[in-house]
Amino acid sequence: VEDEKRRVLKSAFGFDEFRPGQERVIDALLSGRNVLAVMPTGAGKSLCYQVPALVMGGLTIVVSPLIALMEDQVAALRLNGVAAEAIHSARSREENVASWRRIASGEARLLYLAPERLMTERMLSALSRLPVSLIAIDEAHCISQWGHSFRAEYLELGRAREVLPAARMIALTATADEATQQDVLQKLFGGDAEAFVAGFDRPNISIAVAEKRDAAAAIERYVAARKGQSGVIYRISRKKVEETAERLRRSGVNALAYHAGMEAAARAAAQEAFLAEPGIVMVATVAFGMGIDKSDVRYVVHGDIPGSLEAYYQEIGRAGRDGAPAEAMMFYGLEDVRTRRRFIDEQDSAPERKRVEARRLDALIGFCETTACRRQTLLAYFGETSGACGNCDVCLNPPEVVDGTEEARLLLSL
Ligand code: ADP
Ligand code: MG
Ligand code: ZN
Repeated sequence: VEDEKRRVLKSAFGFDEFRPGQERVIDALLSGRNVLAVMPTGAGKSLCYQVPALVMGGLTIVVSPLIALMEDQVAALRLNGVAAEAIHSARSREENVASWRRIASGEARLLYLAPERLMTERMLSALSRLPVSLIAIDEAHCISQWGHSFRAEYLELGRAREVLPAARMIALTATADEATQQDVLQKLFGGDAEAFVAGFDRPNISIAVAEKRDAAAAIERYVAARKGQSGVIYRISRKKVEETAERLRRSGVNALAYHAGMEAAARAAAQEAFLAEPGIVMVATVAFGMGIDKSDVRYVVHGDIPGSLEAYYQEIGRAGRDGAPAEAMMFYGLEDVRTRRRFIDEQDSAPERKRVEARRLDALIGFCETTACRRQTLLAYFGETSGACGNCDVCLNPPEVVDGTEEARLLLSL
């Protein structure tokens, strides 16, 4: 199942990494639980039921309050080659009938419906004869009178589970307010569901980006200043991994290498040593880290820019799991941006997909070059609003001041 959900993420949606929060929600659903997922707007809630829909097979019903939302989603899914249908009042009778045929024949994976249409006796009895594996209730705060957008049609939805008892249910909302959550839990699940509230912030990890000149030398200095601490250094290529690990070892650091080009046994040995012994510095490509749960990693360094902000977030998240102060440092240079752009241009995929990846690279560059709080910028990308963090390079050392002294120094040296 582990492989299957990642395979679907990549093959159907073109993403390498889950976003913060998605994976836990998906795992809970796949292991048979009902779920309430509270995640900020833009966080990627749709994938939380779309990936399970494809992994589980059968039919997934998605309840959505607005026709425009349904149409957007169906169009996006079809673009990705996923068989999705919507039945609603703005479509012609013929279109709706054609959709229903594809649903009844088992061709369709997802069906988008408005709540009032799902809850008609006719629809429920037709669906009860189909293998419905999942019901996703989007914008689930609409069920709550506490919320700002109460919709009476949502109140009936709890009954859908009685008619379709084999189906799991997930409710999704961006409204994190406690009263609304409790209300949704009671009304949809009778209290019996697992609630995930994804705040993305990891305030104990300090975040910094530095200009990249001689990355290997900078990494050596960085590690030397943190003697005895466990850390992870990400490099973009196997060659750079080997070189950096070798250089660190020569300077007396207990450094190991990890990349996909190594023998499986050597890789496993490196990983085990890193987990078991304190003070090891792991120099690795992105091949390292999935499922690594070591609580006392004190820093994660990116010697080259990561593939995206999603990847960056995942990778720095391996630091400071114990909640104690930890550091994320990225060395950022324009040469890396060129390399990444070339990766995107040269890869063998559809133009639309390339455009998406180019946009994600732009977001990463924006993060590296921002003069606003780094954490705020990162969290905003995942849809979370926050104040300045006080624990990033920009907050601790605002750029105006740096520029001013730099300028003064230049003037003095003339
Ligand atoms: P929400 O419903 O939480 O507001 P959406 O499901 O509409 O968010 O997703 C917002 C955007 O995030 C979409 O463009 C989607 O393609 C993108 N997205 C979702 N998951 C991922 C991921 N794992 N990696 C990259 N992009 C993602
Ligand atoms: Mg949404
Ligand atoms: Zn900050």
